[in-house]
Amino acid sequence: MVSKKPQSLPFEQMPEAAETLMALMHAQGEVARLREREQLFSSLLVSVNAVLWAFDWETQQMIYVSPAYERIFGRSAGLLLADFNEWRDSIYPDDLDYAERSLAEVLVKGSIEDREYRIISADGQIRWLSDKCFVSHQAEAGQRVIVVGIAEDITEKKHLEGELQRLATTDVLTQSSNRRHFFECAHREFAQARMDGTPVAFLLLDIDDFKLINDTYGHPEGDIVLQRIAESGKAILRRGDLFGRIGGEEFAAVFPGCGTEMAHQIAERLQREIQRLSFTHKGQGYGVTVSQGLTCIHPEDESLDSLFSRADAAMYQAKRQGKNQIVLS
Ligand code: GH3
Ligand code: MG
Ligand code: MG
Repeated sequence: MVSKKPQSLPFEQMPEAAETLMALMHAQGEVARLREREQLFSSLLVSVNAVLWAFDWETQQMIYVSPAYERIFGRSAGLLLADFNEWRDSIYPDDLDYAERSLAEVLVKGSIEDREYRIISADGQIRWLSDKCFVSHQAEAGQRVIVVGIAEDITEKKHLEGELQRLATTDVLTQSSNRRHFFECAHREFAQARMDGTPVAFLLLDIDDFKLINDTYGHPEGDIVLQRIAESGKAILRRGDLFGRIGGEEFAAVFPGCGTEMAHQIAERLQREIQRLSFTHKGQGYGVTVSQGLTCIHPEDESLDSLFSRADAAMYQAKRQGKNQIVLS
């Protein structure tokens, strides 16, 4: 029997084979390392509460979207990758124009970092997104324009901001505008009226003998009176009117676009509304009255302060004349 010797490479080919083997082992190691890295990235992307995305501008196709998309938008990532209209469909209608315009702007600016808009998630909830985007030119793909972005759910932050804004601008007791916010808005209305050449009226209201109400029925009862008067004030407002509590028992209103006659009618309506209010404390009924000072913009008025001081003087005149009345100045 002839035993077959294992085939061996000729001596001169040995180094080449060893090199191939080494290269193969190296490539396998590289593949394993890449797979490990991919797994690491995937688990990072799953845990990040923001949607990372990449968009091919030429083909108008989403080419990548991270797992958070399904969680935040409540829609299928597969559908978005198949049709970019999915993204448009999820945007809150009032914000669609802005969202599309700001996405296109990235081509000119290179990056847009202050992009915020609302979406309606699949369960019907409105969510706020901060969707930053950047242009990423892919040289190897022949200068294909790829836009990449990171969309973060900022709904909670927005709600907190709204609540802070409300707290900063509202009077806690009556839930009407506080003094600072009222005057900020009033100054703006005055400037607008001056620019447009339209009328604007300013009204001051002070509760009559309020100290007596406090002294007779107690401070908490006085608080109820303030709340009910604020409700009456808000009830007579038209869209665009301003109303605020500017002092202890003093309120003010601004009626944009209102000439003397119309403003006077509104003040009279408010006067009647307040006269009709009835209060009961420990079985005892009582009512309240107010004095109002009213004025309208004059051509020589350079700032809101002129209207404010005229209305104030008119209000004090109403007090001097016996209270429970409106004085027009
Ligand atoms: P007049 O008719 O001249 O306006 O007299 P008045 O008593 O209404 O005015 P006065 O300025 O003498 O008193 C205002 C009172 O308003 C005094 C103050 O204790 C009270 N007041 C101010 N802020 C509050 C508040 O938040 N709650 C209550 N209950 N009272 C308040
Ligand atoms: Mg007062
Ligand atoms: Mg008073």
